[in-house]
Amino acid sequence: LKYEYSAAAGYATGAALRPDRPAIIDELGTLTWAEVDDRTTRLAHGLARQGVRAGSSVGVLCRNHRGFVESVVALAKLGAHTVLLNTGASPAQLGAVLREQEVCLVVADTEFRPLLANSPRGVKRVTAWTDGPTRSTTLEQLIASSPALDLPKPPAGRLIVLTSGTTGTPKGARRPHPKGLLGSAASFLSRIPLRAEEPLYIPAPMFHSWGIGALQISLVLGSTVVLRRKFEPETALSTIEKHRCTAMFAVPVMLQRIMELPRSTRASYDTSALRTVACTGSVLPGKLATEFQDAFGPVLYNFYGSTEASWVSVATPEELRIAPGTAGKPPLGTRLAILDEDGRAVPRGEKGRIFVVNDMLFDGYTNGSGKQVRDGMLSTGDVGYLDRHGLLFVAGRDDDMVISGGENLYPREVEDVLAALPDVREVAVVGVPDEEFGQRLAAYVVPVEGVLLDAEELRKHVRATLTRFCVPRDVTFLDALPRNATGKVVKRDLG
Ligand code: ATP
Repeated sequence: LKYEYSAAAGYATGAALRPDRPAIIDELGTLTWAEVDDRTTRLAHGLARQGVRAGSSVGVLCRNHRGFVESVVALAKLGAHTVLLNTGASPAQLGAVLREQEVCLVVADTEFRPLLANSPRGVKRVTAWTDGPTRSTTLEQLIASSPALDLPKPPAGRLIVLTSGTTGTPKGARRPHPKGLLGSAASFLSRIPLRAEEPLYIPAPMFHSWGIGALQISLVLGSTVVLRRKFEPETALSTIEKHRCTAMFAVPVMLQRIMELPRSTRASYDTSALRTVACTGSVLPGKLATEFQDAFGPVLYNFYGSTEASWVSVATPEELRIAPGTAGKPPLGTRLAILDEDGRAVPRGEKGRIFVVNDMLFDGYTNGSGKQVRDGMLSTGDVGYLDRHGLLFVAGRDDDMVISGGENLYPREVEDVLAALPDVREVAVVGVPDEEFGQRLAAYVVPVEGVLLDAEELRKHVRATLTRFCVPRDVTFLDALPRNATGKVVKRDLG
């Protein structure tokens, strides 16, 4: 697709097509498409006064609110590179990213200021959201003090999204921006029936590839984006009710929190407008998928993908009914392959490494480290298999695999078996060193509130379902699992 459809073009088109319809709704109120277009042009001039030029790199360290969206759009209007910063990263990690990306300015919410303690010297700051008075320049001041004069068309800036850092420091992934936007939306819509110009709620953090992907889709569709700065299960339901949201883009732990609300609380909100709940970022437990659909109807879509590969496969509500743990089938323009160590396709039902090819693969890591590619296909770093219907099942990350007494074990399989028990709220299984077997499995279990679980009962249940090697010798009960900002369990913090 030669046609450029960037965030900047998205709002300019929106302003021409539907100037007075709502574009963004957040805690501060509603902005129309014409207002966002006007404000982001002003903001671009304001940022230019702060020294931002085409080709400059600017960090965005914000929760989900208008300031996040407007910064991304204003930077696109200037042709600057936008570096989306993970609000869960440490000051040291962020310092390294700012240095690597040669960031000249960071737009940040005041609450994240401490995270910028290791910024290189000379990096300017602009405040996006503040709960009290602030001495530094704010986005609103830049908007109010700048003209809405047309800007010259700049060269396309890049969008840099960081990986979640589940396996170490978050890596910068350059997304194909903006040329990939329409193709990526078409691929998305081939599996998920979103309609144009409807209210779409994005609780998933927009600094993550999923949240920013949702924003990009919303631009193509002309959706009203509904944002809340923090996720709370009841606020989520009241937001859906108030704005009659037809779609929600979430991560599994958010659905879990919603399902932990008392049934009567859930039922007290009118969520009947909701037709699509798209979920990704980590494993969607089968039990959660089933319970969620029992409560909210056939609305759930399980997306499997990564920052590097974009979306790889999608399970529809019907597929999740038949096979609750599945990650579904690839969308339009995506090909999947399950390969063995030698790069040969494995037979259906057998596990292998998941490879993918599509138009949306990232352009490479910003730190210069290589992509794992084989015959033009990108390794997802995950292991999985296709069932006889061609449905994908993700067994876990390649590097999560545990070798115990020569057996290859995938902790995800044990997690699924334990998570299916009604008294288990959350579970994570990891490999720990073992003198006899090299490694053995250890389970960390969060019981449903008020329930006392017996470790031996849990082991018996695993023994009855999987091989004896899969039985976790160590079982530890916890109140909660350590999770990062995108809701993923941080396994290296266990044990
Ligand atoms: P890092 O690369 O820094 O370790 P990360 O891989 O966690 O971080 P992301 O790109 O956010 O960063 O996550 C992609 C990974 O998340 C996938 O490779 C997969 O392991 C997991 N994942 C995402 N969606 C699903 C899903 N629907 N089912 C199972 N696993 C999923």
